[in-house]
Amino acid sequence: MATSTRDYYDVLGVKKTATQDEIKKAYRKLARKYHPDANPDDPKAEERFKEVSSAYEVLSDPEKRKQYDAGPSFFGQGAQGGPGGGFRGFQGGQPMGGDWADLFGSLFGGGFSGGFGARGRPQQRGERGQDVTVPVRISFADSLKGVTTKISVPLTVQCDACGGSGAAPGTAPTTCPQCQGRGVVSQSQGFFALSQPCGRCRGRGTVIEHPCSACNGTGLTRALKKFTVPLPAGVKDGTKIRLKGKGEPGLHGGPAGDLYVTVQVDQSPVFERRGSDLVVEVPVTMVEAALGATVRVPTPEGSVALKIPAGTQDGRLLKIRGKGAPRLGGAGKGDLIARIKVLTPERLNGEQKELLKKFAELRREDPREGRPGWSA
Ligand SMILES: [Zn+2]
Ligand SMILES: [Zn+2]
Repeated sequence: MATSTRDYYDVLGVKKTATQDEIKKAYRKLARKYHPDANPDDPKAEERFKEVSSAYEVLSDPEKRKQYDAGPSFFGQGAQGGPGGGFRGFQGGQPMGGDWADLFGSLFGGGFSGGFGARGRPQQRGERGQDVTVPVRISFADSLKGVTTKISVPLTVQCDACGGSGAAPGTAPTTCPQCQGRGVVSQSQGFFALSQPCGRCRGRGTVIEHPCSACNGTGLTRALKKFTVPLPAGVKDGTKIRLKGKGEPGLHGGPAGDLYVTVQVDQSPVFERRGSDLVVEVPVTMVEAALGATVRVPTPEGSVALKIPAGTQDGRLLKIRGKGAPRLGGAGKGDLIARIKVLTPERLNGEQKELLKKFAELRREDPREGRPGWSA
């Protein structure tokens, strides 16, 4: 009755003297490699898998191994699991017992639970469509005022020609003859029933005999979809706006992904944004800084007068309340921060130099005097 022609040790690729541990290791490696679920389209792999399983069943059992080693004529008289017993060998399963769940539990990421049903179930739940991100560029002024933008996004949409069915106009998808519309095919493998997505219809349950020529039977095409996106006053650079369900459509009835609009705000040559505040640099002369002055400062809505106090140092920040960027949600506006930049006079003529020297003599000051670390 023996049909196996290959030596079990050769099958597992181990020496005759291999330990139980080595045999187990070799089997695990080969079982993973040739398992039918890992090679759904390769009948040879299944053959190899059965062979490997038979070899392991015998060699992993010290008693059976002893019999096998004693000679093939002696072996095989036993009722179950002889050479060629093949896949059915799992039924007896004594030597495999605990190993089985252990082995395939790890192989399939823990999804193993009393058969392949759990894992082999086709995806009945639809897949969520992909999120799509598109940038939209606006001017600095528009970011403060708020603006309504129109964007065109290339997206997968239902094919117009077939209404998304994928079947040529005038025809319709028909029930899959392979699985009778169930989307799954079951195969009895002894103790195990393997449930797999139907290969003919890919689990859909229907097949398209005459595919729509516009979409090649996919029911989908790419098209530019237009969206109007209102951007609120005060929107910041880098803001992401989510349009829920406006991304790529889901598969098999799954929900659509989201569309994200990323706002890119052009820089302003005048203002620098800091949260809801705006910073504007205000150049003043040395004399204005020293004596004080009133200067006009630009704001997003026209200029305002700003009083520079006498004795203002370079870099001083003066706050102009409520002239910053709008806070989102209508919570008023931030402030405009005037950053004073004191300009040192350049290209002095003779008379100006004389005046400044005279001024210095009158002041007789040393700004470094008395500073820690500066005394000579
Ligand atoms: Zn179509
Ligand atoms: Zn089918």
